[in-house]
This record gives sequence, C-alpha cells and structure tokens, in this order.
Amino acid sequence: MSPIRMRTGLSRIPALFRDLLFPPRCVGCGELMKPFSDIDDDEIFCPLCRAAWESAVIEAAPEAAADAERGRIYLVHYRPGHPNGVPEKLIYHIKHAGEKRVFAFVAGRLAPRLLKTVATLPAREPGGEEHPLLFTYPPRRRSAAREDGFDQAQRMAKALAVACAGEYASLIRRTRRGRAEQKTLDAEGRAHNAASAYVLAPEAADTVRGRIVVICDDLCTTGATLNHCASLLVTAGAGLVILCTVAQTGKK
Ligand SMILES: [Zn+2]
Repeated sequence: MSPIRMRTGLSRIPALFRDLLFPPRCVGCGELMKPFSDIDDDEIFCPLCRAAWESAVIEAAPEAAADAERGRIYLVHYRPGHPNGVPEKLIYHIKHAGEKRVFAFVAGRLAPRLLKTVATLPAREPGGEEHPLLFTYPPRRRSAAREDGFDQAQRMAKALAVACAGEYASLIRRTRRGRAEQKTLDAEGRAHNAASAYVLAPEAADTVRGRIVVICDDLCTTGATLNHCASLLVTAGAGLVILCTVAQTGKK
C-alpha cells in the first residue's frame, strides 16, 4: 500500500499515532507543521503559506463575487505554468494526494460563499417543499481515477455536502466515447469531447426535479465539462445548477 493511499484513512487513527506515523506537512511548501494533536483538523498550511493563500483568495475575490451571482463559485485563480504558487500546490495536492483534511479545508471555505449565494436567490414557491442542496460531480476517466486511487471531484462533492448539510448523489456518468483527457484539448475540442463524454445517470431525473444542484470540481478551465453537465441536469428538470470549484483558470 502506498503511503499516500494510507493517508486517506488517517482521520481514523488517534492524533498521537498520526503524528508519529505521518507528521502533518504544509500543503504549500511541504515543511513539517505543528503536530495534529495541536492543530485544527482542516489546518493544511504553515503560517507563511497560509498568508500567501489568504492573499490569493483576496486577489480573486472581486471576480469570484461577481460570478457567484451567475452561479459560479470559486476561491482562487489557478495560473497554468506557475508551479510554485500556493493555489497551484493545493490543486496538485487535491488531484494527486487526496488527503481528507485538504477536502475539508476547501469545503469549509467554499461552503459560506455557496450558502450566501443560495440565500440571495429569489424565494421559491410559497408552500413549496424545501429540499437540501444536492451535490454531484463530473467523474474522471476510470484510468485516471485508478492511477491516483480516488476521484477528486467526487471527494469535493462529498466534503461540500457535509459542510453545507446537503445531500450527495452520483448523478453523472462517464461514457466510453469521451476518451480524450480535457487538458489535452483546445476550447472547441473540450466542448465537443465533454458533450460525448458525460451522460445523466438513469435515476438522476427522479432525484433532481426542482432541486438546486451543485456540481463540484477542483478546477474550471473553459467550463466545457461543467456547462455540459449543467445542461444535462437542467434538461432533466433541475430547478437551478450552481458550479462550484476550488479554482478558476486565471491569466498567466
Ligand atoms: Zn508552507
């Protein structure tokens, strides 16, 4: 078993033993942090990287706030080709390490924005049944999920459902047709690939009718995947779809 795979079950081990086996490391710089027994479960940065993270969030805030009104919520900008930034390190960690504390961290920071956006929506029909938010995700290619041992978008959806007291459901399926990896394609190629790569799960139509559905992912690049999945859900009768990612691809 790889050390990374073992880490995903860390929360079940008492803090003292976790400190001995895998002392916590900063997700930004890899430096050792205070022991788990002394820090919050969702503390993932050393003080320096924490400060860099906070300023990256503030830097992205004006656009993130404007997008919240259009149902797109994210925390930071991700700059391709900028490997040393704290947001870039965090995205890498989310994609390839999958520690539970990292998903708890991002979910804890996305949840207030999401709930605030939902609270500003016009009230639904008086007397209409109020449902909890429904969280779902676009699945990765099976081979990619197998390589890392998990699907990061699924973990995000589950963590956000917990942070927002919502429901989690796997509503989208990956077909065998969309074989290309999105990151290898241009914008037009991505839209075309997304349209053939994702379909609705057979039971989804019964679940989503009239509901607010939140599609979760780590990164929004062109938005082709998320927009296609949103239109599938709207066609199936979802009342509203919100796209929620850790980062939005920004300018270099
Ligand atoms: Zn650090």
